[in-house]
Amino acid sequence: MTWKEQVVLYRRDLHRIPELAFQELKTRDYLWQHLTHLGLRPQKMGGTGLIADIAGDRPGPCVAIRADMDGLPLAEETGLPFSSEHEGAMHACGHDGHMAIVLALADRLVEDRRFPGTVRLLFQPAEERPPGGAKQMIAEGALEGVDAVYGLHLWAEFPVGVAGLKEGPMMANADQFVIRIRGQGGHGSQPEATKDAVLIAAQTVVNLQTIVSRRVRPFDAAVVTCGTIHGGHIFNIIAETAEITGTVRTFSPAVQQLIEREIERIAQRTAALYDATAEVEYQTGYPAVVNPEREVAVWTERLRGLVDVIRPEPSMGGEDFAYYLQQRPGAFLFLGAKPSEGATFPHHSPHFVIDERALPLGVEAFYRIIHA
Ligand SMILES: [Zn+2]
Ligand SMILES: [Zn+2]
Repeated sequence: MTWKEQVVLYRRDLHRIPELAFQELKTRDYLWQHLTHLGLRPQKMGGTGLIADIAGDRPGPCVAIRADMDGLPLAEETGLPFSSEHEGAMHACGHDGHMAIVLALADRLVEDRRFPGTVRLLFQPAEERPPGGAKQMIAEGALEGVDAVYGLHLWAEFPVGVAGLKEGPMMANADQFVIRIRGQGGHGSQPEATKDAVLIAAQTVVNLQTIVSRRVRPFDAAVVTCGTIHGGHIFNIIAETAEITGTVRTFSPAVQQLIEREIERIAQRTAALYDATAEVEYQTGYPAVVNPEREVAVWTERLRGLVDVIRPEPSMGGEDFAYYLQQRPGAFLFLGAKPSEGATFPHHSPHFVIDERALPLGVEAFYRIIHA
């Protein structure tokens, strides 16, 4: 069997056994078995992750190749013959493919060691759930001795044969917030004796939408989304408390800090307007994935003839690959995997599918960065 066929089988095996963040034990066993079978010495790291080094035939840099490992809490509805065997869990983002790509890469590298330096395979758990696995992997030494780190994400928005790669922001800083409003509850017929937390929450949501439209420069991209709003128990009682949760997406620390300040200010002042109080809990999440120029130029050059490299608009999604790029040079790439037939479902959909022809391209994309 060729490595191009093998990578598809790896992916299907892994697709059957999705596990949630920091629970990737079967997944790690699977990787472990293959890597030890190849004669490598993997090392457990980052909770449920692992690293393994492959030495080339001559001195050179140490290049880390990262694959994330976790699935999502979803019930799969693709109808694929190799669908999830784990109830309530699904590889609906493509991380099964990322691991398969790196496994097949390992096969190729072990078979023919004509490359300089060392390749560190970096299998990282828990990308999907902040604070994520990358931080822990780094804290435990995953980047020690590493000169550069590369990663990719299978991308359902681009067709197979297209790759998105550019310098600067690729993915957003992703934060979350909770606003707790405290008013004064009472009888639905006597509003004059109350401070209606539901009304204040509604005003707060509306006012928050003026941050991007009226505080952020038009040239800076940002999103403020209120995802939930909860308050009250029954139709004829005015709610005493209400809670709003949401997410903030930005590309620069300056805009991020501006928005954090504005959320605090608007929440408190809106509540004060109605003689109530609000408390804001703001949690910074993954930083933005920002690709350095040099590595992007080199990788783009090497990808010539393999895929069409386009300069994509950044994604407002978050990725903890950002932490590696804060520590080391490297690059992150979107690899087109849009199904050629049927509807395309977004990442994180229970119907999410990829075109598996993207997988060998992923292996080759990494292979080319290693073979200087
Ligand atoms: Zn995802
Ligand atoms: Zn993902």
